[in-house]
Parts: sequence; structure tokens; C-alpha cells
Amino acid sequence: MSETNRIDDILERAIDGERLTPDEGLLLLEKADLLSLGAAAHEVRMRLHPERVVTYIVDRNVNYSNICDSYCKFCSFYAAPGSKNGYILSRAALKQKIEETKALGGNQILMQGGTHPDWDIDWYCDLIAFCKSFDIHVHALSSPEIQKIAVVSKLSVRDTIARLRDAGLDSIPGGGAEILTDYARGEISPLKCTTDEWLDVHRQAHALGMRTTATMMLGHRERLVDRIEHLDRLRILQDEAHANAGTEEAGFTAFICWLFQPTHVLSGDEARGGTEYLRTLAVSRLYLQNVRNSQASWVTMGPKVGQMALWFGCNDMGSTMIEENVVSSAGVAYRMLSPEIHSVIAAAGFRAQERNFFYEPLEAQFLDSPERLREIVGHDPKNLALPAEAFDKVPASVAARR
Ligand code: SF4
Repeated sequence: MSETNRIDDILERAIDGERLTPDEGLLLLEKADLLSLGAAAHEVRMRLHPERVVTYIVDRNVNYSNICDSYCKFCSFYAAPGSKNGYILSRAALKQKIEETKALGGNQILMQGGTHPDWDIDWYCDLIAFCKSFDIHVHALSSPEIQKIAVVSKLSVRDTIARLRDAGLDSIPGGGAEILTDYARGEISPLKCTTDEWLDVHRQAHALGMRTTATMMLGHRERLVDRIEHLDRLRILQDEAHANAGTEEAGFTAFICWLFQPTHVLSGDEARGGTEYLRTLAVSRLYLQNVRNSQASWVTMGPKVGQMALWFGCNDMGSTMIEENVVSSAGVAYRMLSPEIHSVIAAAGFRAQERNFFYEPLEAQFLDSPERLREIVGHDPKNLALPAEAFDKVPASVAARR
């Protein structure tokens, strides 16, 4: 069989729901043409989501602190412990951010920070309980943070998650995955949790009945084979979650991949283009068919590539990103309000539907016209950043918590 015929055969079988082997996935990534990949991924998407609906969520990224001792080589967000650039959001600032989010029709906060060398389970339970007291979905703390809390608190990962859940943690985001192979992690984040540790946080959360999301950051030091291994590890874990729960309403709710922005930290790396993102997105849709939802990453790629992604296997536009700090600290971030998301989705040929974390439909509130935003937040909606006095300076806050 010629290579072209072999690729066509693999795509046909994937469209029919057959599982790709790692070698087949790699061949698609390396050799399949872009439009064939997109067409096949779209067929899979339409089988999983037959209606021409694209969902999105109104939520806010809240970065409670940037203090981190993982020193990932690609990260331009963190401040080392003891650095004068470190911050911890005060309770007043958190309150303001959450109340603004709710006033804007948001139903979730996505809250992450760094890995702090000293903060223990009590510190984090206080933080989560405070956020949950505003009656909002708390999607928070990535695997590296949870692994760190477990170590500092001398608890198992399962007990750590159980404590956080009891304090109000609703779900766990897939942050910190980057590429789930030891080779790639060794290249860019050697001090952060290993592949097995990242997966174990999600495994334990799934076992406790908690849903989580899966991510991939591509386009840095990884090889194509690493991307496939990453997808394979996620697929295996999702199978495990479904088998253990006896239902497909378990495990990862969604897969989200985005392209690394090499603006300054990993110098020497070239920026990759949208086609590389779209190729990987399409292969991920074909490979990872046991994860129902695929999100378009328009925050890093822009709304136009986001529209293309809707024809490369994505059924979801992710978040309106009322606020985004991590990507924007690398110098690249786009932002859209609900009406813009609706028009971007409509222009791509789909109907927009607001949703919650569980992909249940919600009635769009459209509270975020510029005038209404200004009215709610009391300042220019283009600048939702908080004034400097909203941040606790590190030494005092850390001392108070020790
Ligand atoms: S990516 Fe996350 S874990 Fe790594 S240095 Fe940045 S804040 Fe820390």
C-alpha cells in the first residue's frame, strides 16, 4: 500500500471511530495533508456533536499568586520565592474579581498559581473555601500545585484532593501538562512534576468522582513522537476513568491544546505557525475520541485561527477570558466578549451556545457590552487589571501564613 493510500485508510478508519495506533498517529502528524486532516477531524466532531453548535463559557482566569519554585524554562509568569516581583492576591482583590465575574454573567473561575515551597493544605483549603463562598464553580489548582501541596502537607495525592474538594474545589484544570513525556519535560520543566505524577493527580481526582480537563502545550522542544505519546497517555487514563466509573460521564471533560509563544524565555526557538497548531489539533481529535470536547485556543492564536479550529475538530471556543495573565505575560493574548464570540462563531458557520463547566447549556446574558462593563466594574473594561494596592506584598503575607 502506498503511503498516500495508507494515510487515506487511517483517516477513514478514524472517521468510523476506530482507534489509531501511536504509529498511525505519528504518520498523520508527519505526512497527512492539512485539509484531509481537518476534514476527517470535522467528521469525528460531527459524529460526537451532530448539531452545528459551538459552546463557550464565561469565566475568568484568576492567578492567586505568581510565586513558584519550579522555574520552568519557558515561563515568563513566575517570581522566585523571596523575589520582590512576587505577589499574592489579597482576599479583597479575590472578592472583587469574583464579584465582577458574576456580574458579567460568569459562572466559573479558573484559578491557578505557582508551586509554593511552604504553603500547605490548610492555606489552600482557606483559599478555595473563600472563593467557593461566592457560590461560583471553582475550577482550580493544576497537577503541579496539587503535587506540591501533597508533599508540603505530607499527605497522599488522593487525600489532598479530597480535602480540597471538601473545601469547595469543583474540578481540576489540565494546566502544567505541557508535553507528557519525560524527554520533553526534561527539556523545559525539569523541576516540575513528572508525567506520571501529572497523570496521577487526574487519576485520583477521577477516582473521587471529580471531572478534570486535559491540555497540551506544543511547539517548543518536543518531538512529534512526544505529542503522540502525550495523546496516548491521556487516552489510556480516560479509558481507565470510564471503566472505573462505569460511565463515559467521568474523567476528562475536554482537551485543549495551544501553541507555545516563544517571545522571550526559550530564546532561539522560532515561533510556529497556525498550520502546525491546526494539524496537531486535528490529529488530537482523531486520536482522542474518548474525550468528548475539543476546545479552540483563540487566546493565543487569535479569533481567525479560532474560527479555523472549528473546522479542525473543535466544538468549543473555551472561555471569554475576562482576564488572562499567564499568556499575556508572554506577550501574546487576545480577548473577546460574549457578543464577539457569538459573531465569530456565527461567521464560521455555527451557532453559539453558552455553557457551564459540565457543558450544560446556559442562557447567554450578554451583560458585557462595553457600556455595561464599565458600569459594573467602574472602570474601562479594556483594563480589568487591579490597582497595585490590591496585591499583598509577599514577605508580610507569607510570614502571616507560616
Ligand atoms: S509554568 Fe507554572 S510551574 Fe512552571 S514556573 Fe511557571 S508558574 Fe511555575
